[in-house]
Amino acid sequence: AQKLHLLRHNVLSFVSSRTGSDLTRRQYDVIVVGGGHAGTEAAAAAARLGAETLLITQKIMTIGALSCNPSLGGVGKGQLVREVDALDGLCGRAGDSAGVHFSILNRSKGPAVWGPRAQLDRERYRQFIQSELLSTPRLTVLEGSVDELLVSQPNPEEPGHHRVTGIRLVDGSHPILSSSVVLTTGTFLSGSLFMGQTTSPGGRMGDAQSCAGLSYTLKETLGLRVGRLRTGTPPRIVKESVDLSLAQLQAPDKQPTPFSFLNTHTRCKPEEQLPCYLTHTTPGVERVVRESVHLNCHIQQDTKGPRYCPSIESRVLRFPGRRHQVWLEPEGLTSDLLYPQGLSMTMPPDLQLRLLREIPALHRAEIRAPGYGVQYDFVCPTQLTPSLQVKSTQGLFLAGQINGTTGYEEAAAQGLWAGVNAGRTALSLPPIALSRTQSYIGVLIDDLVGRGVTEPYRMFTSRAEFRTYLRPDNADLRLTPRGFEEVGCVTLRRYKKAVSVRDGLQEALMALQSVALSSTRWREKLGNISLSENKSTTLNRKQCWTFRIDIYAVYRPHCEKQSREMERIRSEESLSLPSDMDYLSLPVSLSHEVREILDRVRPNTLGAATRLPGMTPAGIIHLLNYVLRTG
Ligand code: FAD
Repeated sequence: AQKLHLLRHNVLSFVSSRTGSDLTRRQYDVIVVGGGHAGTEAAAAAARLGAETLLITQKIMTIGALSCNPSLGGVGKGQLVREVDALDGLCGRAGDSAGVHFSILNRSKGPAVWGPRAQLDRERYRQFIQSELLSTPRLTVLEGSVDELLVSQPNPEEPGHHRVTGIRLVDGSHPILSSSVVLTTGTFLSGSLFMGQTTSPGGRMGDAQSCAGLSYTLKETLGLRVGRLRTGTPPRIVKESVDLSLAQLQAPDKQPTPFSFLNTHTRCKPEEQLPCYLTHTTPGVERVVRESVHLNCHIQQDTKGPRYCPSIESRVLRFPGRRHQVWLEPEGLTSDLLYPQGLSMTMPPDLQLRLLREIPALHRAEIRAPGYGVQYDFVCPTQLTPSLQVKSTQGLFLAGQINGTTGYEEAAAQGLWAGVNAGRTALSLPPIALSRTQSYIGVLIDDLVGRGVTEPYRMFTSRAEFRTYLRPDNADLRLTPRGFEEVGCVTLRRYKKAVSVRDGLQEALMALQSVALSSTRWREKLGNISLSENKSTTLNRKQCWTFRIDIYAVYRPHCEKQSREMERIRSEESLSLPSDMDYLSLPVSLSHEVREILDRVRPNTLGAATRLPGMTPAGIIHLLNYVLRTG
């Protein structure tokens, strides 16, 4: 409690020394707008690069807030967290500090698609992110609301092309200048909150929507195409009112696996972890949903809702008669609340209570805060470059939910990369991209800028063609050296650690490759570690190395095949593609979307085809094989 008090005191004195009027500078290398998951990573990354950075957010106390579920990671998302950590971002270490229930999801599949995940203590997560930001050199945090983006038109002969020059706060104080601005306003852009038949402006319950001036600049001044998306959150339930004996206990892994490559253990000790519980909906839940549709304006507007994290109303209406899973998750070590994952809802509060009580474990449930929905503007991300810069506006970067994604991990990953590029622009360095063959972050950005979104985008391992290489266990080896040597966002400490791991593994592999043994004998020699055993064992140092070598050995042949294929693509870039090729009915495995683009653009060479939006490496290999076979 004393520590928390001290932190609060530091944050507040920090704010008061940096209110709009007494900011020491009026010009920054980089300005980041929004202190959510994208904004915090963007600001920290730009500052790590060496840019003098200003983070402006509506409320400093909500920096690092988990707006919805108190959890981090999962299948695909855990890979993103590992990659953000490998590039020295914050969320992995914050997860290790705040986690109260760690588990590796998807363990029945190969380790390439395992999903590191943790339930979080909301307070600990917020505290970690805030204390990291407040102690980051070259980073200033300002509480305020940005009302306007300042832009100039660099060349009158290029109408529609702009350059960002700074921002103006809603309090009317002087403009703050910068040639690099990262917008990470989440669900706040023209945000509307929904509960029952009530709609009110807001970005999140208790927080105002983004100022109208910002939306105006994006839509009217810059002419950006903007769409509308929606999401929602469940009611928070008083733990004591739940009969957990009627739900199924879900234990965490006995040994928590840290997200961060810098950590060997998590703050929460294995025995301190909290359980989750699983229960299910009943026919009574469906009845309440059906009876309340006419009182639920969010669901009336669109009964289908988003495909990922849909509301209970949409799930019941789309799949009548089905039993749906409900996870009862802890909100923190000392919190007296439970988070019912799977019960996001927007009906009136009295009906929310009626619905909950139709579930046996919740028959006496009390609600602390009702669920609600939010609808917001997003900027169609095909208007961005792979560095997340707006194509038509030099120096303006967008990251997070504003680009049509959903989830903390997707936001953090984009934030880090936008921050890197905003920092590079400010330091007069060229933009830099991550490829989809190198990282899930590359897959995420390539999907967004190449294909755009029609519904909130979330990461899955199936989106990555090279998932046997893009594993959670090797994100440090894939990204940390590049992050230090080329990008500049990784500290020397982390770099040295990654290099020593890389060298150690290489040495061990060379030694092992010089000895020929059967795989059974190898297992015996290496201490009989099985890939799925970690759940019940504490990994010592020798076992950790054995574990990584084991995974490497399993995937090596496949990864080598993929890298040979990539080499083939590079060497065949100038191969001509027949101008009369019938892409629409080509007998190869290509998505309908890619066929249409190929048919419309008709690229002259394979190299030109690789650069088409939405074209994947796997698609190019199919195309290459087909042309060589038939040509
Ligand atoms: P946010 O975390 O929303 O942060 C935006 C920040 O920008 C805020 O701090 C805000 O104060 C600040 N800001 C906005 N405008 C301005 C301005 N003009 N000036 C200064 N600061 C500004 N994700 C899921 O994965 N599953 C879910 O089920 C889910 N449900 C959700 C339900 C609700 C009701 C909400 C609000 C979000 C939900 N999310 C869900 C989304 C999740 O919270 C986001 O994906 C994630 O927080 C996005 O991070 P971000 O950094 O883009 O934006």
